[in-house]
Amino acid sequence: MGEFKHFINGAFVSSASGKTFENRSPVDLSLIGMVHEGGEAEIDAAVSAARGALDGEWGSMATAKRSELLHAVAAGINRRFDEFLDAEIADTGKPRSLASHIDIPRGAANFSVFADAVKGEATESFHLDTPDGTGALNYAIRVPKGVIGVISPWNLPLLLMTWKVGPALACGNTVVVKPSEETPATTTLLGEVMNEVGIPAGVFNVVHGFGSNSAGEFLTRHPGVDAITFTGETRTGEAIMREAAVGVRDVSFELGGKNPALIFADCDLDKAIEGTMRSVFANCGQVCLGTERVYVERPIFDEFVARLKAAAEKLKLGAPDDDSVNLGPLISKEHQEKVLSYYEKAKIEGAIVITGGGVPDMPGEQANGAWVEPTIWTGLGENSAIVREEIFGPCCHIQPFDAEDEVVRLANETPYGLACAIWTENLSRAHRVASKMEAGIIWVNSWFLRDLRTPFGGSKQSGIGREGGVHSLEFYTELRNVCIKL
Ligand code: NAD
Repeated sequence: MGEFKHFINGAFVSSASGKTFENRSPVDLSLIGMVHEGGEAEIDAAVSAARGALDGEWGSMATAKRSELLHAVAAGINRRFDEFLDAEIADTGKPRSLASHIDIPRGAANFSVFADAVKGEATESFHLDTPDGTGALNYAIRVPKGVIGVISPWNLPLLLMTWKVGPALACGNTVVVKPSEETPATTTLLGEVMNEVGIPAGVFNVVHGFGSNSAGEFLTRHPGVDAITFTGETRTGEAIMREAAVGVRDVSFELGGKNPALIFADCDLDKAIEGTMRSVFANCGQVCLGTERVYVERPIFDEFVARLKAAAEKLKLGAPDDDSVNLGPLISKEHQEKVLSYYEKAKIEGAIVITGGGVPDMPGEQANGAWVEPTIWTGLGENSAIVREEIFGPCCHIQPFDAEDEVVRLANETPYGLACAIWTENLSRAHRVASKMEAGIIWVNSWFLRDLRTPFGGSKQSGIGREGGVHSLEFYTELRNVCIKL
């Protein structure tokens, strides 16, 4: 059984309060370990360590050296790949095949990609005419923002945390990370890697705990935190923004979604079925970019529903180490309860249950776990909770449409604006519809495919700001304007 301590100023430490909480496997609810619960004392110590590191070696380190160290962090993760994989799987219950292809490799890549990106960082420079004719040179420089508070969720724990820590450190900041209470393991392990490769003490700090009135909130409230980057629910983002308002601190938010897929009759149906299967059911539906609303043009509606049902019924649920398994459990019993409450609501609202809608029979101890059936509904109207609210489970609602304008309106009729997938073989339609979608990320005939240098983020209530490539460098640095009279 593991013990997950805070990582502050280069050392693993217990909570001053002595408080701990349990970390249980969602597969069968077995106890994985005890997590130290941080409070104001740990946040204070971590922020002081982060501030101290800015004043030390890290603060004056050349970009090339920082970049070299971050490549070493990526290599350090890869060297201990199997340990990271085991830790991520134990916390989340996700299939080994998924975590080994996405979570851990991307967790490492988030350091190497930004280690390279920061070396190409450029700013503008102008020659200015002056009345005396000598002129002036006016240019901008980028400096680190300072201490960054990083608050991350449980669905892709290492990947989404490093997606922020990588660029923050590449730009010369220091960080205090509050990982999700559900998934403390890989963030803790990363502390060991930081020490192994020689990242100076205080640059990377981790405090475990909960959100409201716990380590998360204390971090956002701490006046020593210069900016906050957060991935999680929209409501949590609102709470964090209220805290960040004190001291006018900058925020970058990647929040919830209710993403549509638009399936036109002129699509390649095999590809649309395959892509929609992944976008609805990958990671048991716990992907912010996942599809929960599917709109299908009427001539192919019945065929699409029948084929998606057949494919969903072939999905195999089970423990992470079974290579034939497609879906793991949800993250926790609490989340299972939330998803099942939507399965009930769907029935009350009069949905036609195409497949699923309940709890699967699991063998032995797994019956205790947080399992739900892959589920497809049809027949609900736009005002139904199933169609409007983010469920974050392995489920979708499919609805027919008759015209392009109609589906664009239906797809955009949501307070969210994270992602969307358009399936069509008509090139003009692809461009036309893509330009009308109110979403930060628009896929045509694909899903989850993205160059890490491109902007990532959500519109409307799905986020504030963009990260990825130079966009991350923009958030994690501040521009200073220098004007020199010649
Ligand atoms: P959550 O908002 O419940 O928790 C995320 C983190 O915030 C956790 O570490 C939690 O402890 C902390 N937290 C909670 N309340 C807090 C508070 N008041 N102050 C400070 N910190 C607080 O989200 P979750 O359930 O972990 O993750 C699922 C959600 O994340 C979904 O809504 C999903 O769409 C979203 N998400 C978005 C993206 C994206 O890129 N847009 C990516 C992944 C997940």
